Amino acid sequence: MKCPYCSKEMEQGLIEAQHEVSWRKKRYHIPSARFYQGTVVLGDSTFTKWAAATAFLCRDCEKVVIDYKDNQCDLNKK
Ligand SMILES: [Zn+2]
Repeated sequence: MKCPYCSKEMEQGLIEAQHEVSWRKKRYHIPSARFYQGTVVLGDSTFTKWAAATAFLCRDCEKVVIDYKDNQCDLNKK
């Protein structure tokens, strides 16, 4: 993936967490995105695996990009 800021090739890696990785508008009391409208789950945990979402890094711009189209970033759904 090319960086949308500088157009250099980005490094592919992942963001991992013990529970779900999600985007939401603000921090809520219940840490599960499914309780709130408009949230996007990027990576979901399972009984045996931590949540992991593919992410691309640009060290020059200090940006991370996650493409969540069709849940393709969720490594537990592959
Ligand atoms: Zn960049």
